[in-house]
Amino acid sequence: MGKILDNILLPGATIGIIGGGQLGQMMAFSAKEMGYKVIILDPQENCSAAQVSDDQIVAAYDDLDKLIELAKRCDVLTYEFENVDAKAINEVKKYTQVPQGTKALRVTQNRVSEKNFIEANGFKVVPHVVIENIFEYHRGVEELGSPVILKTIRGGYDGKGQIRIDDPEKVCYADIEELLMQGPCMLEKKIDLKKEVSVVVSANSNGETSIFPVIENVHRHNILHLSTCPANISEKSAQHIYQVGETLAKELELVGTMCIEFFVSESDEVFVNEIAPRPHNSGHLTIEACNISQFNAHIRGVCNLPMPKIKLLKPAAMVNLLGQHLDNAKKDLVNHSDWNFHDYGKDVVKENRKMGHITILSDDLTATKQAIENNSIWDV
Ligand code: ADP
Ligand code: MG
Repeated sequence: MGKILDNILLPGATIGIIGGGQLGQMMAFSAKEMGYKVIILDPQENCSAAQVSDDQIVAAYDDLDKLIELAKRCDVLTYEFENVDAKAINEVKKYTQVPQGTKALRVTQNRVSEKNFIEANGFKVVPHVVIENIFEYHRGVEELGSPVILKTIRGGYDGKGQIRIDDPEKVCYADIEELLMQGPCMLEKKIDLKKEVSVVVSANSNGETSIFPVIENVHRHNILHLSTCPANISEKSAQHIYQVGETLAKELELVGTMCIEFFVSESDEVFVNEIAPRPHNSGHLTIEACNISQFNAHIRGVCNLPMPKIKLLKPAAMVNLLGQHLDNAKKDLVNHSDWNFHDYGKDVVKENRKMGHITILSDDLTATKQAIENNSIWDV
């Protein structure tokens, strides 16, 4: 027999997942195909993840009694989103393993601690200031120079909780006041982006890491639209990005999967944008394009199985299906034998809500991207 790692959880063990959206669903697919049992905790009955799991506890994410019930019923606990209460995690640790710990949660739940952490590790972030009132807003705009973006410090996703200020003369102060009512905010200089890229890193409790190839991302209305891999960036930028990935994974004591988002400026400067301590939308293409997916790697990490070297088996493009795209995409599926179609099974279809995605493996990414752009599904 080969080496045996400590705290290994073999197939047959039960994995509890806090959060039952698409990330929980794809984690559950990975866990189920390996033979683990999966229990989801989510307030919405029959949520995406529960549809493909053994059981669901229907409860709010911060319902401590129900979290403890979940912990008692599983061998390991994980989460699919970053807004899990770190205090609650510390509480449920008495009942089960939570190998991810809380450091990554604590650092990334707050844009200020996140940026401080990235800078403390010697990596660049965009110029920013924290502001608490309109007076500090004016001072901040003066200091950074416009255009700027105002962001809530906690809880933002898909561009929610953000105001873009291209022209400070034309700004709506009521909007700014409203954001500031929620607490201090971060004012960031808006960078002229050449590209956005991301890197997914996974690790087990033994400190073995797997790093995925850099992915290139296009956003529309601040929501991820298209991801492609490999990213079209210089070797120097790629090496820097891998170094950031390895360093931050180590410093965050990463177990499971995380993703780091980057901005590449017109002058090829690389800034770390933000860290997601969980699998990430841009990493969905790893399901078909890599030897193991970001979700497989997450399950391997939290179960402390050995971590593989990641290979990109084929270039790939992933395009998101939002509420306004889903119906037309389903109809068009009959015309595309190369579409790997993913529908998360959400029962409420809403504009701009992530409902599914399509991944296409391709030897000609330029042509594939063009075909996506030419398809009217994504015009709305
Ligand atoms: P979220 O938590 O909503 O993902 P982000 O900070 O990643 O918030 O912002 C969403 C998107 O908005 C980014 O992917 C990028 O396209 C754009 N963006 C955010 N901050 C900046 C910035 N300082 N300069 C230029 N573009 C930005
Ligand atoms: Mg982001």
